[in-house]
Amino acid sequence: MRPVFPTAALVALACLVPLAAQTPDPAPEADAAVLRRLFDAALDGSPAYGQLRELTERFPGRLSGTPAYDGAAQWSLETLRALGCDRTELQPVTVPYWERGAPEVVHLHAAEGSGPLAALALGGSVGTPAGGLRAAVVEVQSFEQLAAAGVAGKIVFFNRPMDPREITPGRAYGGAVNQRSRGATEAAKHGAVGVLVRSMTHALDDVPHTGAMSYLPDVPRIPAAAISTLAAERLSRTLRAQPAAEVEMTLHCSPQPDRPSANVIGEIRGSEFPEKVILVGGHLDSWDITPGAHDDGTGCIQSIEVLRLLKAVGYQPRHTIRCVLYANEENGLRGALEYTRVVAEKKEEHVLALETDSGGFRPAGFNLGNPAGDAHLRAARWRELFVPYGIHVFQKGTGGADVGPLLRYGYTVAGLMPDSQRYFDYHHTRIDTIDQVNRREFELGAAAMAALVYLVDRHGL
Ligand SMILES: [Zn+2]
Repeated sequence: MRPVFPTAALVALACLVPLAAQTPDPAPEADAAVLRRLFDAALDGSPAYGQLRELTERFPGRLSGTPAYDGAAQWSLETLRALGCDRTELQPVTVPYWERGAPEVVHLHAAEGSGPLAALALGGSVGTPAGGLRAAVVEVQSFEQLAAAGVAGKIVFFNRPMDPREITPGRAYGGAVNQRSRGATEAAKHGAVGVLVRSMTHALDDVPHTGAMSYLPDVPRIPAAAISTLAAERLSRTLRAQPAAEVEMTLHCSPQPDRPSANVIGEIRGSEFPEKVILVGGHLDSWDITPGAHDDGTGCIQSIEVLRLLKAVGYQPRHTIRCVLYANEENGLRGALEYTRVVAEKKEEHVLALETDSGGFRPAGFNLGNPAGDAHLRAARWRELFVPYGIHVFQKGTGGADVGPLLRYGYTVAGLMPDSQRYFDYHHTRIDTIDQVNRREFELGAAAMAALVYLVDRHGL
């Protein structure tokens, strides 16, 4: 068998890496054998897909602060206990809370083409006045157009699509999502009375996508909803032909007082460095209208599965391997902020924090970030070990939303990078169901995470 790492390259890499837990990678053949066993255990007889079914079917709509979330947290805790964790914990955290209320109605009134528009109120939005809100509609593509558009007393319709030319859908999402997150505030500054946003997806269908929005303290709070991409196309066509067309919005949602919630934690204690942590995690909460399979049920179960896989192959980790299922990623990030606050308070060292929150699709690799900006280069020394499993990407990044605070605190983070071309077909929708998750792709993702955790535990990063 061809050696995976030339000795000279190994020595050079070892010099780059000052961590106490660092040892050279002496036997790539032995590592390759461990990875093979981890992938075998993930692909043959794993309980993970069944667990994903249980999580998504028993606890849909698990927005943090709801009974569904609390049930999911208890179930996850018991699942972690059952696989033999040395310590489990529900870490208390206070979360913002918001309620949708009765289903929203958005209706187009026009001389020709009147009818309902498939819509979902945005998370955090205020409701409409009793009896609803009816006004003329002004379509814009950007905040810059608002001043000249004359939107006072009207509903603003933000219709800038996600850029189809972006190869990475997450980047296209990033380029469009400010319409959802800040559109209501920007429109209200110019006197608008309501906001409609084109759903954040490349898909052209009648499925609306909700998501977070927020207000500023000194700007009027106006209601906001997303409409499906087909509804957006129809509304846009209608407004071009009939500029006097109106939309009637009836939203029953309302922000509510904060509620108690919890992060779910389970860990296997390290044999040599129990005080140093390698974290794997995802977010347990989902939007209220979705089973949250890809976002982020897959990430939660994959994180639990990493612990099970290490045990299944009989590997005794040197560092503590900790699974963290975060509360409140969708509408506040309070779970991640509280976890990081406790880490700082206890001065807990984290060797790596690996997040999975980009869908349960076929894994392509990892993004890695650390203050020095070289973590992805260090991890890339293991690329050839991953190639047999179709995994080859080690790129610079920031892990993900929930490990972001740990990166800012100075620790190394990573994010599993699946092929995410279909992720925004399902993201924050009612159709984010388990039947959209391919069992093998999902299992390969868990195995990839376990492999990276094993290599970092064994050799340092
Ligand atoms: Zn997510």
